[in-house]
Amino acid sequence: MENKYLQKIYKIIILVIMILALFSFYFTYNAFADDEEKYAVQITDVQAYDEKGSINADALADDNIYTKVRFSEVTSVSFTSQSDIKAIYLIFDGPLKGYTLSYGDYILKSDKDGFLHDFKQLYTNVNSLTIEFNAGTVLTDVYFFSEGEVPEWVQRWENPLEKADMLVLPTHHDDEILFFGGTMPVYSLEKGKKVQVAYMNNHWGEPYRPHEALNGLWTSGIRNYPIIPDFNDTKFYDLEGALNYYGEDALQEYYVSLIRRFKPEVIIAHDFNGEYGHGSHMASAYSVAKAIELAKNSESFLSSANTYGVWEVKKAYFHLYQENKIVMEWDQPLQKFGGKTGFDVAVDALNCHQSQLKYYSMSKRGVYDCRQFGLYYSAVGEDVEKNDFFENIPEYQAVVDQSLISEVVLPKDTLVAEESIDNSVPNPCFNCEVPDKKNSDYVFVIAVASGICALALIIALIIYKGRKK
Ligand SMILES: [Zn+2]
Repeated sequence: MENKYLQKIYKIIILVIMILALFSFYFTYNAFADDEEKYAVQITDVQAYDEKGSINADALADDNIYTKVRFSEVTSVSFTSQSDIKAIYLIFDGPLKGYTLSYGDYILKSDKDGFLHDFKQLYTNVNSLTIEFNAGTVLTDVYFFSEGEVPEWVQRWENPLEKADMLVLPTHHDDEILFFGGTMPVYSLEKGKKVQVAYMNNHWGEPYRPHEALNGLWTSGIRNYPIIPDFNDTKFYDLEGALNYYGEDALQEYYVSLIRRFKPEVIIAHDFNGEYGHGSHMASAYSVAKAIELAKNSESFLSSANTYGVWEVKKAYFHLYQENKIVMEWDQPLQKFGGKTGFDVAVDALNCHQSQLKYYSMSKRGVYDCRQFGLYYSAVGEDVEKNDFFENIPEYQAVVDQSLISEVVLPKDTLVAEESIDNSVPNPCFNCEVPDKKNSDYVFVIAVASGICALALIIALIIYKGRKK
């Protein structure tokens, strides 16, 4: 009697386990199916060839910016795949010189000239497309994706801002991280401010560095392409040397033009003493300080005054400035960065600067302390709370929305004029951990399913053992 009763219970348990297993399978399968639709897959079977059949296709597919393909003349390259291509990500070795993209019924001109990393979403799925590159183009890598959301490491740069809340003014590629710490992640993605970065020097002489810079900025939550001017990087040990080399007037004109163009509420600039004594950092701080005054005056630098109008910034913080000191708190977890702190994100971003890691690391000490600033200029009074670069600045409506990203689509045979912009870098940052949403979703579903199965199995085992006794 008791035995029969137990047998019945046992059967019910088995049935429950089977039902639970079926449910788990169903939910897991659906989660995967949904994600498959939502997320793009990288397509790796793409063949690349030009008219002469001489292109080194491997160099474009090897995910390595050090292997390059150089086009000494205008060159059409065709890409074909068995899979449907819906997006393409191009990495150039220098500022993009323009190209013409043809696929299906479309012919498009590049609209991100000057950029290094160029992402293009296609209007339709295609199995083949052709890109005509201009003479002098150097391409390092090309990535292809299916329909859906591309991985986070794929940089989708927007044009420089029309109106910035904050203008960040590093000298070299990496100074914006090393010395300004959590400034970019905290104020860009986390607080939703419009942050524009403009360097004083370019590093075209070391072609990997602009890529590192873009990777670091992207990791920091910056989405508007940085400004990279024509001042070449050279090492100086004092202010005079740097000012003589670059030209005091030329530097001031550059910074006045930036202030008038981007109309920032807040400026973040270098230490007047050049942090570890770099003359170019000193020249940057010196010139920014002058430019803040000059930008207000309609009689100085007429060209940018006529183009952009005059502008008065509300506040300017200089790194390590000894008056009106403020110590920024970069150790708060940031929601938009998966709980990482501003300092953590800065560490990730600096890791993108592979070539510089032997010299520098993020720090909270001495001249490398990325939290120490001083309010050098204010049109809105002194800081009281001393915890926010935007203290005393009233919330305002953004004047203009930036990033036009309008692409001209024409019927075949009608080529269009192109837009153009500034310069920058591609290639994913291999060191920066970007949370993989897709994986975390899978892991969650699988974990729940496994948990249910495991629980059911344990119950079954207990019952079975009890029955045996
Ligand atoms: Zn520097």
